[in-house]
Amino acid sequence: MIVILKKDATEEQVKHIVDKAEILGLKAHISRGVERTVIGFIGPEDVLRMTPLEVFPGVEQVMPVLAPYKLVSREFKKENTVIKINDDVTIGGKKLVVMAGPCSVEGLDEFRSIAKKVKAAGANILRGGAFKPRTSPYDFQGMGEDGLKIMRDVAGELRIATITEVMDTRQVELVAKYVDIFQLGARNMQNFSLLKEIGATRKPVMIKRGLSATIKEWLMSAEYVMASGNFNVIFCERGIRTYETAYRNTLDINAVPVVQKLSHLPIIVDPSHGTGVWNLVPSGAKAAVAAGANGLMIEVHENPEEALSDGAQSLLPTKFDVLMKELRVVAQAVGKEL
Ligand code: PEP
Ligand code: MN
Repeated sequence: MIVILKKDATEEQVKHIVDKAEILGLKAHISRGVERTVIGFIGPEDVLRMTPLEVFPGVEQVMPVLAPYKLVSREFKKENTVIKINDDVTIGGKKLVVMAGPCSVEGLDEFRSIAKKVKAAGANILRGGAFKPRTSPYDFQGMGEDGLKIMRDVAGELRIATITEVMDTRQVELVAKYVDIFQLGARNMQNFSLLKEIGATRKPVMIKRGLSATIKEWLMSAEYVMASGNFNVIFCERGIRTYETAYRNTLDINAVPVVQKLSHLPIIVDPSHGTGVWNLVPSGAKAAVAAGANGLMIEVHENPEEALSDGAQSLLPTKFDVLMKELRVVAQAVGKEL
C-alpha cells in the first residue's frame, strides 16, 4: 500500500502515520521526493485492507501497489534513485559508471597493472573476483581473502571504488570490510538467505540477473534486499540463456527500458558475460549505453590467453581504451556523460 501525503503534510503527521502502522505490525518506508513524500506500507494484505489510512491527517491518497514488488516499483518512488558510492562516484544519474577489471584477481602485480590501465582509460569502479562461482569444482575458485586484500590495497593506491562478488552469507561481513559494492552473482540471484543478509547491511549491492530469470523474478530479488532495509540496490543485466549457441549468453537489451519503466533503481549492463565473446563486447556495450543504461561492467585482462577465468570474453587494455572513446560519443548522443 502506498500513502501519498499532501504537499503541506507536517513531520508530526508523518510520524503519527508511521507509529500507527508499526503498532499494527506494518513496515513503513518513507520516500521523500521533490514534490511529495510517499510512505510505502508492507505487511499482511488483510491488515492493510482493514486500516483506513485515508482518514489520517496529512494523507492525500492511498493506493494499492498491484505489482508483487513494492519498494522496488516506480509506484513507490517516481524519481530515479541515485546511489552514492563515494565523493566522486554515483550510480543512476547523468554520469555513467564503468566497472572494469579482470574476471578474477590473480595476483598483486597483475591486478595493480590492469587497474592502472582501466582507470587511465576512464573506468571509475574496479572489478575483480576473489570468490568465483565456477561450474567445475576443479577450476580456479578465486584467491579468497588474499584477493580482497589486493583489491583494497590497489584501490587505496589509485583512489578508486571497488566491486566484488559475495557468494555466501558467511562471506558478507568479510567482503564488506574490503570493498565498496557487493556483487550478487547471477547464480545466486535467488539465494534468499544471502539477499536478506546483504539487506541487513547498508552497503550498495549490484544484483546480476539470473541465467534464466524473468524480469519479475529479478525485481523480487531486489525487493528482498529492500524489504530487509538496504535501499542501495543496482540491477545488472548480464545476458540470459537461450537456445542460441553462437555465443555464451544472449544480451537482453530490452531489460534496460523495461526495468527503468517498472523500477526507480539504476540498471547497468555487463556485455562481457552478456555475450561471452570478446569481439562482441564493444557492440553490446554501445547498445547498452544507447538504450539508456546507467553504466557498464566490462572484463579486461592483459593476457586473456592465460587468464584464470573468462579469458575468451576479456578485452585487452588497448581495446578497452578504444571502446571508452567510442562510448563517450554514444553517451553524449543520449544526454549522458562518461
Ligand atoms: C563475474 O562477474 O565474473 C561473474 C561470475 O558474473 P555472473 O554472475 O554474471 O556470471
Ligand atoms: Mn567473469
